[in-house]
Amino acid sequence: MKRRYLLKTLGLGAVGLGLAPEILARTTRGYFAGVNEYPDDELKDYLHKIQNFNHPHNDDVQIGSVLYPIFESTVMRMRRLQKLVGYGNFNILNFSNGLSFARNYPDVGKFTKEELQFMEVTFYADSKRYGFLGEKPLKEITDKVNKKDVIKVPYSGNYLYKERSVEIFEDIKKELGEKVVLTSGIRGVMKQFMLFLNKVYSSEGNLSLASRSLAPPGYSFHGNGDFDVGQVGYGKLNFTGHFTKTDVYKKLAELGYLKLRYPQDNKLGVRYEPWHIKINADV
Ligand SMILES: [Zn+2]
Repeated sequence: MKRRYLLKTLGLGAVGLGLAPEILARTTRGYFAGVNEYPDDELKDYLHKIQNFNHPHNDDVQIGSVLYPIFESTVMRMRRLQKLVGYGNFNILNFSNGLSFARNYPDVGKFTKEELQFMEVTFYADSKRYGFLGEKPLKEITDKVNKKDVIKVPYSGNYLYKERSVEIFEDIKKELGEKVVLTSGIRGVMKQFMLFLNKVYSSEGNLSLASRSLAPPGYSFHGNGDFDVGQVGYGKLNFTGHFTKTDVYKKLAELGYLKLRYPQDNKLGVRYEPWHIKINADV
């Protein structure tokens, strides 16, 4: 479904621009306008932020008090939706199906008009305004993952694209054996939305802080084939700098698999992610 049609169906028409000025507002002094042209002190400041990605910084963009209750109810509804459809299915759930599940199951409940406007504004806002400078592989909130294009990787709850990703993951498994695990595969629009908003929620509404470690919805290459790997038994540490101490990381580096999407000191506003496998070096 095209976005315009979806909006018409929902009876929204124009997006609620007045609703979320903090998401749409330009940050002061063009802070994130182009890191490459930064004078030395600003570059230093940028790198400091990225190295301390999980801490709030003075000019971080926050969700304001007016919008906060709508943001919060959206997060809670998404969590209920994930519980309803199951963790695995939620990874590839598209926006339109998510809305109908919510509408049809009272345990989740219909997304309100305000929540939908909030999601629209968040999806289509330029993420540079709060600090995320990466590309946007999924352009429309209604973009879908076709089930026939993907396979579910056994025991992982994750999906991979048949054409783009499975072969690479299989090669990695052949080389590394049982030690390596797929920690995150394809993430559709809904999944990335929830991961991002959950992170914003746990950082008390801080959009900039969240976007330093999680791509906003639409901006994640997990929507396009990239995936994350880890070492079996390493749990959440697989998503921290500790991963670089594992055998899996050392072997992957040695074999040349680590063409990273977000290398150390990248200029995209994103922390170093040594576990994230970029599937197409040209994208
Ligand atoms: Zn990743």
